[in-house]
Amino acid sequence: MGETATRSEVQAGHPPIPLIGLGADALAAELVRLGVPERQLGMRLRQLKRWVYVRGATSFAEMTDISKDLRERLVGRFSLARPQIVSEQISRDGTRKWLLRLAPGGSCNGAPGPEIETVYIPEEDRGTLCISSQVGCTLNCTFCHTGTQPLVRNLSVGEIVGQIVLARDRLGDWPGRARGEGGGEAAGGQGLRGSVRESTPDGVRGGARGPTVPGRPAGERAITNIVLMGMGEPLLNFENVRDAMALACDPDALGYSRRRVTLSTSGIVPMIGRWGAEAGTMLAISLHAVDDDLRNVLVPINRRYPIAMLLEACRNYPGLSNAKRITFEYVMLKGVNDSPAEARALVRLLAGIPAKINLIPFNPWPGAPYECSDWETIERFGEIINRAGYASPIRRPRGRDIMAACGQLKSASRKLRARERGRGHGDERAGERGLGRDQKRGRKPGCEPKANRA
Ligand code: SAH
Ligand code: SF4
Repeated sequence: MGETATRSEVQAGHPPIPLIGLGADALAAELVRLGVPERQLGMRLRQLKRWVYVRGATSFAEMTDISKDLRERLVGRFSLARPQIVSEQISRDGTRKWLLRLAPGGSCNGAPGPEIETVYIPEEDRGTLCISSQVGCTLNCTFCHTGTQPLVRNLSVGEIVGQIVLARDRLGDWPGRARGEGGGEAAGGQGLRGSVRESTPDGVRGGARGPTVPGRPAGERAITNIVLMGMGEPLLNFENVRDAMALACDPDALGYSRRRVTLSTSGIVPMIGRWGAEAGTMLAISLHAVDDDLRNVLVPINRRYPIAMLLEACRNYPGLSNAKRITFEYVMLKGVNDSPAEARALVRLLAGIPAKINLIPFNPWPGAPYECSDWETIERFGEIINRAGYASPIRRPRGRDIMAACGQLKSASRKLRARERGRGHGDERAGERGLGRDQKRGRKPGCEPKANRA
């Protein structure tokens, strides 16, 4: 970002405060400290909110309805920095994955900050942004790549909301701005397709404003849905995720409907009802097994919160109705949980709960102890579910060539970049020239739907 603290501010112990994600009370207190009169506070808060979350301002200089004098004071005190983009990959199917570096927290001894991943999945009728809530995850589900990552910390409110802000920058998706207006290099996205692009050190420059989202006419929003299905267990970072989603759903901030925000949980039972009451978004449950013996292995938190307890919390989810159903996710693991008997048991288990079922073909990752079920097996499983009245239960795999699919997110980039440094640049990575990692390793198409097979 162009604006940083002045030397005297930093020396006085006032590094700039990240504005993205800052709560209204904390912001108001800072504005008072900057000399903003009480009677102006409401107006200033509204102005700043609009600049940050509706217009996507990347500098205070843009904020032309705020006096020059106050803008200068804001520059010294606040930062509009986004998470830094380490790389952006675009799949052949249009899915985009960003590897983001966060600011180092605490006493970092000069070490770089941790990394997270954010994924954008464009579809005909929607654009879904999949965001992370933690660096890594403590829960160690045995089929999930994120669970193998050693470093774990909670993301701050700003780091969670910052993923949405950054994706809007890159997709040119600011409702308060015409496409192509302001920000980075206009229409830079065309050249990004199928490539890996390194960002500038300070983050968002090179913002792809312009018609970069295939098939989406100008005026139509690129991001229509938010899912908390990236790295981490969102209910173990409850307050920050809740406050971030409050900004995501505030009509005067990012403005998403709560019905278009979905939190996915492995089943932190005591937090489920509280999430419904305090955040009220849609809910997805990572079920993956129909009996406790198997679920204990696949989703070890099941030992503490077994299936019956989990389903009871679901039945009591605030606002649950046929119009607001819970999605049950079920990863298809070959020979493990994919028999017709298990499909029938799944239907029985969910009887009486307004539910959708989502069968997720297992997304393989290097060293994974499972294989994806054969496509025929998934279809047979899906048909049983279908006959029980659940529509289109099979989720099409997206972004596999760039390891952007569910459960594949793990920032192994430190190792990757060390290798790249030896080569000169990152142009050998999966995604470049449309060649995926799976093909590079000669992996067979496995459980791709027939239509996707080469
Ligand atoms: N921690 C939360 C949200 C993140 S995981 C949760 O577990 O629900 C998002 C979804 O991806 C979950 O349903 C998870 O079970 C699923 N998932 C994890 N690893 C996967 C993999 N390798 N293939 C397919 N789905 C996976
Ligand atoms: Fe964590 Fe979810 Fe992965 Fe389980 S599936 S390890 S809860 S991110």
